[in-house]
Amino acid sequence: MSAPATIAQALQQAAAQGLARLDAQLLLLHALGRQASQRAWLLAHDEQPLDAAQAAHWAQLLQARADGVPLAYLTGQREFFGLPLRVTPAVLDPRPDTETLVEWALQLLPQQGQPRLLDLGTGSGAIALALKSQRPDAQVWACEQSLAALQVAQGNAQRLGLALHWLHGHWLEPARQAGLGDWDMIVSNPPYIAEHDPHLPALRHEPRQALTSGADGLDDIRHIIAHALPALAPGGWLLLEHGWQQHQQVAQLLAQAGYGEVAHRRDLAGHIRCTGARRLR
Ligand code: GLN
Repeated sequence: MSAPATIAQALQQAAAQGLARLDAQLLLLHALGRQASQRAWLLAHDEQPLDAAQAAHWAQLLQARADGVPLAYLTGQREFFGLPLRVTPAVLDPRPDTETLVEWALQLLPQQGQPRLLDLGTGSGAIALALKSQRPDAQVWACEQSLAALQVAQGNAQRLGLALHWLHGHWLEPARQAGLGDWDMIVSNPPYIAEHDPHLPALRHEPRQALTSGADGLDDIRHIIAHALPALAPGGWLLLEHGWQQHQQVAQLLAQAGYGEVAHRRDLAGHIRCTGARRLR
């Protein structure tokens, strides 16, 4: 692969490699040490040559992208629900589909009374931070087992000036130990991919711990469903993201556990991606 001479040629090179136009622009801005907001600058300078260091960085980034490294790990950034998040390989790259869960949670959160909300497996903090940004009056706790991920989430909260409460450990256990309960809402995008799912190789750069959950992908969801019910306030909601073919099983698990008002939400592709239910009394 020959080194690109100009910005226009660099973008052509990325397109030839199959990168979407926006991704190519964001990656090139990163190689040039510029902000993601400067796409207009790129367009205005398409004849500008890359210097040797920029060209070397660009070649390295293109190679990593070709190897399947998520764009967000290369640029260190991902926008989620309008929030600029910093992401590292310690956390799942937040997906636009997960915004569905946030929108649903915003519809169901009590309008008054400083609702108490818990995000399980917060990762980059995406869900908890999006909810806190939309509902500053809510009291939001974010729990995470991976210390490296927790640090990423805390850094994001600090940069965004959003005050969350933090818990470190396994699903509902840290909250229980801290004597916290009576949640108005518990939300989670847990790992839900089956251990031997054929799509896993494509996700190999993301933390395994955030992706897979036993033979059918439902181990963690089963655990959360069982332990969340007594932790919820009467009327409180549990909202879960899950795989595109898991909604019936998740609905069944919720009903069997004694939750009521089981409901679903579709993701951007039209798949039923979220299922939730409430503690009736
Ligand atoms: N939605 C992600 C994917 O299928 C997986 C995220 C998860 O397991 N929570 O790529």
